[in-house]
Amino acid sequence: MSFKPANNIQDLQYFGEFGGVNPSISDSSTYTFLSAKTMFDTFEGNADGCYLYSRHSSPSNLYLGEALAAMEGTETANVAATGMGAITPVLMQLCAQGDHIVSSRTIYGGTYAFLKNFTPRFGVETSFVDITKLDVVEAAIQPNTKVLYCESVSNPLLEVADIEGLAKIAKKHGLQLLVDNTFSPLTISPARLGADVVLHSLTKFINGSSDTMGGVICGSQELIDTLRNVNDGASMLLGASMDSLRAASILKNMRTLHIRMKQHSHNALYLAEKFEADGLKTVYPGLSSHPSHELFKRMMNKEYGFGGMLTIDVGSLDKANELMELMQERNLGYLAVSLGFYKTLFSAPGSSTSSEIPEEEQAAMGLTDGLIRFSIGLDNDIARTYKMMKQCMVDVGVLKTEAAVH
Ligand code: PLP
Repeated sequence: MSFKPANNIQDLQYFGEFGGVNPSISDSSTYTFLSAKTMFDTFEGNADGCYLYSRHSSPSNLYLGEALAAMEGTETANVAATGMGAITPVLMQLCAQGDHIVSSRTIYGGTYAFLKNFTPRFGVETSFVDITKLDVVEAAIQPNTKVLYCESVSNPLLEVADIEGLAKIAKKHGLQLLVDNTFSPLTISPARLGADVVLHSLTKFINGSSDTMGGVICGSQELIDTLRNVNDGASMLLGASMDSLRAASILKNMRTLHIRMKQHSHNALYLAEKFEADGLKTVYPGLSSHPSHELFKRMMNKEYGFGGMLTIDVGSLDKANELMELMQERNLGYLAVSLGFYKTLFSAPGSSTSSEIPEEEQAAMGLTDGLIRFSIGLDNDIARTYKMMKQCMVDVGVLKTEAAVH
């Protein structure tokens, strides 16, 4: 079965109010009604096509949601102000007091903190498991489990979830399978593999210019209607709605996502192969040494490659910091969290994006001090970048001087 997410985005056709090739931006927080009756019906959820108030929905947000749903192959989608603004309401909508979640233990630090520290205040407990072991996942399910949660490619360890295997378990036990696909847009299509809900932080690859935050929940019309319900919908009531101007700009950036993902993937594969050959401990799903390389190949939409994220382990946090500072000084990228920018971004997750995870748990999951996470940029000449990076590694002593820079 071949799924063409970029074609699905491209096939959408828009006309602006005056025939513009971009849809007009709805620069309004509130909307008028010609009759009071229609306003009442809209509040009741019975007036399709009418807009009420922009926290609920706006034309610009619906256009962006439509493109994201087309990309993921779901019925519809609801955009949010941030990735966390998408993840948290859907979890709160699907779980009530006394419910339970089974989650991968290697997930974004913010999501981990939400499940570990925040939802227990509302009586929702989470068991964190090694998501690559399906028997362990199934064994963690309790009678009150409602949600199975994972990232298709995990932050920061780049573990790969067997989405089809997890979907089977979810179906068998009547759970909703939620997959955060932030690290692998276009490459992996979780809904096609059986996920019920696909989440993204649009802040990353999808927007791609590190100038805005955004998030999305892709799922069934029924779920999205529930989330938007004015009486008890978590997206509507928690209020992390996206601004229309931002929705319009993210929609425009989405049109080049396929070109960018191919270049991110091409550059990351080149560097991962070189780093590994140099003897660095390198993790990248495109390397045959990655434990889930074959699984990734089975799941992926091939033309977009293995993604733009890779990690290396340089032994200690001090070395990692020294190397990152030098690479930034030599203009090879930025010492910054986040991902999906045109320049390479690097950070040491143990002391930054995953610092919410306690040290013992970091150790248990294999998150070491010397780990550097790279989001590889769109560099035109990646061979030149490699030579310069290797020189930095030699200069800080991560690689031996004898290792000729070729
Ligand atoms: N999911 C993943 C995999 C992430 O890496 C991040 C942020 O780093 C988020 C979700 C949260 O997204 P945001 O920062 O847009 O709220």
